[in-house]
Amino acid sequence: MNAVLINLLYIAASILFIFGIKMLGSADTARKGNRLSAVGMLLAVVATLLYLGLDWTMVVGGVLVGGVIGAIAATRVQMTGMPELVALFNGFGGLASLLVGGAEFQKLRDGGLEHYLGALQAQSGVTVPGWFVVLAIGLTVLVGGVTFTGSLVAWGKLSGKLSGSPALFPGQKLVNLLMMAAALVGIALMVGGKDSPLAFGAGLALVALALVLGVLITVPIGGGDMPVVIALLNSFSGIAAAMAGFIILNNVLVVAGCLVGASGLILTGIMCKAMNRSLGNVLFSGFGATAEGGSGVEGEMKPASVEDAYYVLEAAQSVVFVPGYGMAVAQAQHAVKELAGILEENGAEVRFAIHPVAGRMPGHMNVLLAEADVPYEQLQEMDQVNAVMPTVDVAIVIGANDVVNPAALNDPASPIYGMPIINAHEAKTVYCLKRGKGTGFSGLENALFFGENTRMLYGDAKATVTELVGEFGK
Ligand code: NAP
Repeated sequence: MNAVLINLLYIAASILFIFGIKMLGSADTARKGNRLSAVGMLLAVVATLLYLGLDWTMVVGGVLVGGVIGAIAATRVQMTGMPELVALFNGFGGLASLLVGGAEFQKLRDGGLEHYLGALQAQSGVTVPGWFVVLAIGLTVLVGGVTFTGSLVAWGKLSGKLSGSPALFPGQKLVNLLMMAAALVGIALMVGGKDSPLAFGAGLALVALALVLGVLITVPIGGGDMPVVIALLNSFSGIAAAMAGFIILNNVLVVAGCLVGASGLILTGIMCKAMNRSLGNVLFSGFGATAEGGSGVEGEMKPASVEDAYYVLEAAQSVVFVPGYGMAVAQAQHAVKELAGILEENGAEVRFAIHPVAGRMPGHMNVLLAEADVPYEQLQEMDQVNAVMPTVDVAIVIGANDVVNPAALNDPASPIYGMPIINAHEAKTVYCLKRGKGTGFSGLENALFFGENTRMLYGDAKATVTELVGEFGK
């Protein structure tokens, strides 16, 4: 296979990646988009193998072992455990890039720089200066190492294997800054020394620094902020892969890495914006270490019975469901879909209000509701639904808390002040389904639950919704 053909195949694979990512933007095309990107990746892998004439046995063996482990992990994972699985996948992406960087540096040192560059040119047809390759190796090792251990910490925090509280110590930021500076000095020594023993020593030190930095950067971040960190680390894993692509001069690896890097950054930005927090605040504020319940909310929560709720719902002309993390915990989506169907049959207009950061990962509610076959047209974004909220008869808040907390609108002292919310409190009647008086991710009290027009339906969300469905069946 010649260089022109391989690049044409790489372009085809890149186009498939780009269209695949575009299709992920909408729930009804997401599956197809995923498959399209997978076909692109297969094309890229097969083309590379044919071009480089590598030893197939090792690669096929690796694909089989990795594929089986990945398939088992992906089929077994609960929807609520998805962010931690993604964290692990990102981490292994970072490790793979680090290993590519390490292996290439070893090769460069064994055969000498000139020999290494000659082989690279023979294989790719491109001439690059030595400093460029060594710089790419240094950056790959740094970003790959940080991504690997940072993702392991994120996985540990999300899965409960590590404490979710931010681990803070005095002078932490200074220590991180000094380590980052030392890592950059290490890269400079590598670039200056190229294939010398000093450069190799600096490379080894860089690996150690990168691995420790990944831990130190992630431990001060609270467990609840981990999904944002995972999106950022996802971006890092892409950047590390793109850097690795620059070392071995593989165009499709550069393109795929840049796509992951850019989309991960965009997602990180969307999540921060939806929480009205800057990335700096997420990374450095230790959110979750100090937030406490009780932000001056007065009054009492008024419990209601399922039977009372049934009478109100039976007469409702318009109903908005506001799902949150508790719906995911309860796995109530199928029961909710059933109740929504009954209310529609009863003549009510039914909508689902989707907050961009409801749940614990981007698109969490969309995925759960799609799994229960809730029609896409019933899912409405925050602005759409807020515009009609004052005319809505009943808002049913299912395990949502922070995303419906009016403190975000009217309490400048609140840590979530400024975060856009779903204005469930503006509906004529609000039913809130939760197990007890537990706070949400932010740890803050919620005035919605104390509102004059709010009634609490205590219990597991799935059990409560199933009881409501039962009332309609009587
Ligand atoms: P939330 O604020 O975390 O509140 C979830 C509520 O669900 C809790 O108050 C809990 O109360 C209730 N609950 C738990 N299990 C339940 C069950 N089995 N049945 C019924 N209720 C149950 O959730 P949210 O309103 O969806 O807000 C998401 C939060 O996560 C936001 O603060 C957001 O910024 C943050 N976050 C989200 C993402 C993302 O990508 N989606 C990323 C990072 C951070 P009880 O204990 O009383 O039942």
